[in-house]
This record gives sequence, structure tokens and C-alpha cells, in this order.
Amino acid sequence: MRKKIVAGNWKMNLRLEEGMKLSSEIVEFVKNNPLDSLAGKPEVVMFTPFVHLTSVAEVIAGVKGVAVGAQNCYTEEKGAFTGEVSADMIESTGATHVLVGHSERRSYFGETDEVLAKKTEVALKNRLTPVFCCGEVLDERNAGKHFDVVKEQLHKGLFWLSEDEFSKIVIAYEPVWAIGTGVTASPEQAQEMHAYIRQIIAEKYNAVTADQTTILYGGSCNAKNAAELFANNDVDGGLIGGASLKADDFCTIIKSF
Ligand code: PEP
Repeated sequence: MRKKIVAGNWKMNLRLEEGMKLSSEIVEFVKNNPLDSLAGKPEVVMFTPFVHLTSVAEVIAGVKGVAVGAQNCYTEEKGAFTGEVSADMIESTGATHVLVGHSERRSYFGETDEVLAKKTEVALKNRLTPVFCCGEVLDERNAGKHFDVVKEQLHKGLFWLSEDEFSKIVIAYEPVWAIGTGVTASPEQAQEMHAYIRQIIAEKYNAVTADQTTILYGGSCNAKNAAELFANNDVDGGLIGGASLKADDFCTIIKSF
């Protein structure tokens, strides 16, 4: 059975003490509602700002099914790259995951598919699980190009990996028009794209790999709509932005499973 995941992307929010409070509240919830992925329950990952990683790693230490990850990493291993943070440094904090290719990184920081392929490579090399984000903008969807856009992002960003490397990847489908807008993809739209992603993974690798790949939905997923989205066969959980900043909302989303 493939892994289910509910992940929070805190983006550039929360002071350190606020992040520690939020992660403590989530840990408290998980302790009272143990996560057992074998029983179909999700793992929880908090994608925090870099400065929170070590502290949140301490808060979650020893709690089964809860992990912390970074929202980005640099393409190079180390060296004279002032202000950047390497995958190795991230791993040294206790973090286990990293977001690659969030649409905000693609659009505000000009991250190309080639850069994202490099980040994926360096993350894997440093034992981090890349959560690779893909998704079309509104014009592309309106023009009926959403499948082609996502296919190209996956081909350039991921499909050069070996089968063994690819098996360590989590994919997040995040239609850009749904991120932070309050407009969610309908359960049908999410299911349709997730099934398509699984199909092209099967074409590139094989049916078993496709079946085992965790594919998350992201884009205005919240406490009210999560259950409906997660009920779809090919939706294995969510990458949650705004609603991950409030413990109550985020825990309700975890409970949606
Ligand atoms: C995100 O940042 O990945 C995201 C899905 O944001 P939101 O849930 O706020 O739309």
C-alpha cells in the first residue's frame, strides 16, 4: 500500500517560538491519535522555514509518523554560495524531506526544470525525500494544456531518475490557480490529474512503481474540503499551505483520513 501523507507548507510564516508552539500542538494531537500508516492513516510532514528545522526536529523526536522538511535546498553540495542552504545541512538538522519546485519558487525565483532536476538529485544524494511539486497556471488549464504542462515538468524534473531513485520521490500536484486563492480543484479535477500522473509514471517506469508513488494534492485544501479530495483513489493526501498554520485546521485535515 502506498504511503498517505498530510504535509504542511508554512511558507515564510511564523517566528521560531510560534513554529515550536504549532509543532508541539500537532505532536500532542498525534500522540492522542497515533498515526499508523498500515491502517491507512497518513504520515505528517511539516515543511518549515530553515531556521525552524532543528527546533521542530527536537519537538517531534520519537513521535512515530511525524517528520520535518525544508521548503527548498540549493543545487550545489557546499562552498561559496552566500545565503544558500545545502541538502547536507538540511539533513544534519534532523529533517528528512524537502520541497522541490513549489510554484512560488518557480515563479518568484525563476527555478527552471533543469535547476529542479539538480535539486532533486542533490536531495536524494543526501538522503532527503524530495516532494516534487508540479502544476499548471490558469491560462494553461483554460487552454486545455494542463496535462501537457504537468507531463513536461515531470519529464524534465524527474523522469531521468532510475527506477530505484524514482521510488523515493513524492509528487505534489498543485494547480497554480488554486494555491492561496481559495479556489480548490474539484475532487474530479484532482482525481483526473492524479490518475494521469500515475499513468505517465507507469509508461515511463512500470505499473508497480506507479502504483506505489504517493501523489499529494495542493491548492486551497482546508478542513472543510480535505475529506472530499482525499476520498479519491489516486489522491494520497495533501500539501497544505494556509490551513497548515492553525493546529486545529491542520489536525482536522489529518483526521480527514
Ligand atoms: C502551498 O503552498 O503548497 C499551498 C497549497 O498553499 P494553500 O494551501 O494556501 O493554497
